[in-house]
Amino acid sequence: MIIGIPRALLYYQYYPMWKTFFEELGAEVVVSSPTTQATLSSGASRVVADTCLPVKIFLGHVISIVERCDYIFIPAIRSVKRKAYNCSKFLGLPDMTKAVIPESPPILDIEIDINKGKRHLYQAIYKLGRHFIGNPVKVRQASLAAWQAHLKYQQLMSSQGLTPPQAIAKLSGEVELEAPTSIQATIALIGHPYILYDEHISHRLIHRLEEAHNKVLTPEMLTTEELESATTRLVGNAHWTYEDEVVGAGGHYLETRVDGVIGLMTFGCGPDSQMMDMVHRWATKLGATTFMSLTLDEHTTEGGIVTRLEAFLDMINRRKRRQIEVCA
Ligand code: SF4
Repeated sequence: MIIGIPRALLYYQYYPMWKTFFEELGAEVVVSSPTTQATLSSGASRVVADTCLPVKIFLGHVISIVERCDYIFIPAIRSVKRKAYNCSKFLGLPDMTKAVIPESPPILDIEIDINKGKRHLYQAIYKLGRHFIGNPVKVRQASLAAWQAHLKYQQLMSSQGLTPPQAIAKLSGEVELEAPTSIQATIALIGHPYILYDEHISHRLIHRLEEAHNKVLTPEMLTTEELESATTRLVGNAHWTYEDEVVGAGGHYLETRVDGVIGLMTFGCGPDSQMMDMVHRWATKLGATTFMSLTLDEHTTEGGIVTRLEAFLDMINRRKRRQIEVCA
């Protein structure tokens, strides 16, 4: 049995865990190729223009693998933390996909909602596992192996400073990582992984910063404790499931005084516009770090990004030069 996983949205958070679970149950996993303009165009052609860019791209990824798999895995992740809920787009993702991509193979649409308790979670996992095997003990073993894979993935990123694509490649034994040389500045990028690491959405922002000899830090390079405590300092209890990726990471990197923080979000995203505004206010209050937010959509051009980036790096360099003069 072949399970298709779209390389979009929560792929970057959970791919090693999902892959391990399905493979432990004897299935094969295929992943869609990295995003291109064709991926975006095909996804965008199925939904109204107001749909956010990451969802359009997700649907394009589904379309790209419909003929390569027996099932497509699309979980409806409602919450992974108590009293913090996910954006409504994630909740309706399996139903939306069925409605707009009728040619899709059957969708495995497990619901994850921590607020409904452990029993609901275990039942949802067993229900998913029963597509492959009737033995609940085997499903339990597969879910434990999957959880271990997830912990190892998170630990790899936070302890070795890897991005999700680097950690996934390392887990599959694919790459040699190069140590950065001659650092100009340390820049933190904050935002959801499906924006930061999708090179089509972000216009290769991480590579552009590294090519300009900057050290790039991202939310996944922090521990859960660091992210959660920064979120608590800024806003108290998190209201959104993935608030730590924006508010927690932004707060932490501003407080530790990296040279610059760039917030990435997509046009039309309600949760992100609120969260990014809180980080912006915190940056203004602390006043020690240059902050820029970029709102991306399908009309964002490479030229526009490069111009903003050059101006941002110029500001950081000028600020650093001034500090050196004052010290001298
Ligand atoms: S959080 Fe924003 S960008 Fe992400 S799926 Fe929801 S609306 Fe789209």
